[in-house]
Amino acid sequence: MLYPELVVTENRRQFVRLEPADPAMDSPAPLFGLDANALAARMGSAGEPAWRGGQLAEAMYRQRLTDINEITTLPKPLRQRLAGEGWQVGRPRIAQVFQSVDGTERYLVEGQGAGQEGQTVETVWMPEGDDGETGDGSEPDETGGPEKDGPEKTWRRATICVSSQVGCAVNCQFCFTAKLGLQRNLSAGEIAGQVIAVFARHGVEVGRDRVNLVFMGMGEPFLNYDNFMGAVRLLVDEVGLSPQRMTVSTSGIVPGIERFAEEPANLRPKLAISLNAPNDEIREQIMPINRKWPIEAVMDAVRLVKLRPRERVTFEYVLLGGVTDRAEHAAEAARLVRRTGLPAKVNLIAWNPGPGIPYTMPLPEAVEAFRANLAGEGIPTYLRRPRGRDIYAACGQLKRTVEG
Ligand code: SAH
Ligand code: SF4
Repeated sequence: MLYPELVVTENRRQFVRLEPADPAMDSPAPLFGLDANALAARMGSAGEPAWRGGQLAEAMYRQRLTDINEITTLPKPLRQRLAGEGWQVGRPRIAQVFQSVDGTERYLVEGQGAGQEGQTVETVWMPEGDDGETGDGSEPDETGGPEKDGPEKTWRRATICVSSQVGCAVNCQFCFTAKLGLQRNLSAGEIAGQVIAVFARHGVEVGRDRVNLVFMGMGEPFLNYDNFMGAVRLLVDEVGLSPQRMTVSTSGIVPGIERFAEEPANLRPKLAISLNAPNDEIREQIMPINRKWPIEAVMDAVRLVKLRPRERVTFEYVLLGGVTDRAEHAAEAARLVRRTGLPAKVNLIAWNPGPGIPYTMPLPEAVEAFRANLAGEGIPTYLRRPRGRDIYAACGQLKRTVEG
C-alpha cells in the first residue's frame, strides 16, 4: 500500500488516522494522475479559480511538462507559490533505457514515490509494433495522408506495452513476471504516466502519429481495475487518445471482465483474453487461475461485452513446446473459439524463455503448422513477432531487472 490508511484500533469502533511515516508525505500529493475536475478542486482549495485546473491538465497531459515552473500559462507568482508550498507535477520518470538491436526499447520507469523500494515498473516501446493488433478492427492507418511537418521520424507506427502492477499474483507457470509475486498496484497516474513519458521521449504527436497501447506489461490489469480504468480515462479525456487504439489483456478475471462490459464504448479499450490452452485440463496446469474461472465462465463474461462494428475479441495463445503446440491442440482450440460464437481472432505467441522456467520454445515448424491449422478452420490467426528478446522486453519476460 502506498499511502498510510485508516486503521481500526482494538475496540474496533474507533478509527485512527496514522501520521505519514515519510516526511515527504507532508507536502501535497503529486498532481499528475488527477483529471481536470480533480485539478480544478485542488486549485480551488489553493484559493485559485477552477479553470486553472484545466491549465494544469493541458500542461501535464498535452504539453508533457514535468516542472511547475515551466507551466507558463500560470502567472509566475502563482507558480512560485505552488512550488514553494511543495506542489509537484510528479510524473513517472524513465530511469533507465535498454535498447534492442531491433529498435525495441525497454524502460525502467520510476513511479510516484520514487526512491522507495519496489517503485520501478517496465514499459516497452516497439516501433512498427509486433503485429498483435492486425485484424482486430483497429481504426484505419492515419499516416497515409500528407507529409508531416517537423523532424522526420524513424518509425511510421509504434506500440507501447504498459504495465499495470509491479509483479503479478496470478502465477501463470510460463511467465517470468509471475516469479516476482505481486509487489504492488500502480496508481492511475503511474499507469498513464508510462505512456506520457514515452510519448515525450519519442515526440509522439497525438492525432497524427499512429501509436497503439497494449496493457500487456507486468501485472493483471483486471486485478487493479479502478486504477487501470482511471488511467484509460486520463488517456482518453486528457491526452486525447482513442480507446480503439488500446487493448487490454486479461488472464480471465471474470468479475473484471463483467465490469469492463459495463464501460461506455467511448472509453472501453479492446479486449484480449489469454486463452493459452485448448481445454480446461491443460489450461489449469499452466494457469492455476483456471480453477477459479474455467474457460466457459470466461467466455460467458466476454459475451457480455458489446463489441463495436468490426471489433473482434483477441484470444492470445502462448505456444509451449510439446505442451500446447500440437496439431490436436490446434484443432481443439479452433473448435473452442468457433463455439464461442464471438467475432474473434487468435494471436499466437511463441513462448519466450526466461531463467528457471521449465518449458521449451516451440519448433518453428510447429508454430507454422499451428497457424495454418487455425487459419484453415477459418479463424483469423496472427503470429506475434517477438520484439526485444535480447533485452528481455518480449512478452512474459518483464521482470524488474536492472541487469536485463
Ligand atoms: N496479465 C495479463 C497481461 C500481461 S501478460 C495477461 O496475462 O493477459 C501478456 C501476454 O503475455 C499474455 O497473453 C501472456 O499469456 C503472455 N505471456 C506471458 N509469459 C509469456 C512468455 N514467457 N512468452 C510468451 N508470452 C507470454
Ligand atoms: Fe500475470 Fe499475465 Fe504473467 Fe499470468 S501471464 S502471471 S496474468 S502477467
